[in-house]
Amino acid sequence: MGVLKHYKDLLPVTDATPNVNLEEGMTPLIFLPRVSARLGINLYGKFEGCNPSGSFKDRGMVLAVAKALEEGKRAIICASTGNTSASAAAYAASQGIPCFVLLPAGKVALGKLAQALMYGAKVIAVKGNFDRALELAREGADKTGCAMVNSVNPYRLIGQRSGAWEICDVLGKAPDWHAIPVGNAGNISAYWAGYNEYKKIGKINALPRMMGFQAEGAAPLVFNKPCPNPETIATAIRIGNPVSAHLARAAVSESNGEFNSVTDEQILEAQRILAAEGGVFAEPASCAPLAGLIKLKGQGKLPEGITVTMILTGNGLKDPDTAMSQVGRPIEINDTLEDLMKVLEGK
Ligand SMILES: *Cc1c(COP(=O)(O)O)cnc(C)c1O
Repeated sequence: MGVLKHYKDLLPVTDATPNVNLEEGMTPLIFLPRVSARLGINLYGKFEGCNPSGSFKDRGMVLAVAKALEEGKRAIICASTGNTSASAAAYAASQGIPCFVLLPAGKVALGKLAQALMYGAKVIAVKGNFDRALELAREGADKTGCAMVNSVNPYRLIGQRSGAWEICDVLGKAPDWHAIPVGNAGNISAYWAGYNEYKKIGKINALPRMMGFQAEGAAPLVFNKPCPNPETIATAIRIGNPVSAHLARAAVSESNGEFNSVTDEQILEAQRILAAEGGVFAEPASCAPLAGLIKLKGQGKLPEGITVTMILTGNGLKDPDTAMSQVGRPIEINDTLEDLMKVLEGK
């Protein structure tokens, strides 16, 4: 039924709010038995790749676009590392309004670019990094009156709280640890707000520790200073100066959580493990939490038997290039049974 309808009572939705809906949300919370056994914990992956545009961004975008329309805005604009643009473009298409997206030139995964173009957005490649594209988008919004739908838009973070509510609705409680990749730091802040809201209305008794994971080459929250030239293969979290840094720091300190960094190699290894031992294909940024849990396990810092949810923020199909650079090629054979049997018998 979509996030706006499902969580109507918890969202700023009124009779005047257009019913924007691409059936986002209600994504599967997948128990991962083999990966759990490897780590000695109960590990669940919330597979946000099942959202209509293939990432969690749809949860907040649906509300941001609905409120923009309610306020009389007739076009939207955003800067994006890829998924925000895909999501914005999808909702704009569904409502028949123009969408302008600013992307860091050459740094967006192929699937995400294909999506934004297919949904019919005006795609602008900026010769600069994400942080600069965001500044430009803000200035463009100020000058034109387009609705800015980056996570500086408060409705984005409010809509994204729905992920926390779904987890609690399924588990009947909050997890012990909530592991999540951190880029612009909106999602970790939204989840923390969501858990707190559920505690306030008595749906859960205890709050999770918020564990945020960044890529080592783009880890301003781990090293506690902006990173002027962020670099990582996990392009969705290639951000040097997170807009919601203050909220994310509060979430981590209030929950007695932590920020940790992982290398690109650890992220790619985790992506392979999640796929080959979990049966779930998530994009590189989404695998930073698993990389981090493996790292903490190696350091003896992962308590036995705890329940951990990790947010698998985006679908692996969005970035086939990175995946293909990590795996072998298919085995090519002639169209004979003889050739096939050689493979099946491992010769
Ligand atoms: C946007 C995004 C992130 C980062 O989320 P923030 O709210 O910016 O911290 C992580 N993973 C994926 C796949 C994303 O699209």
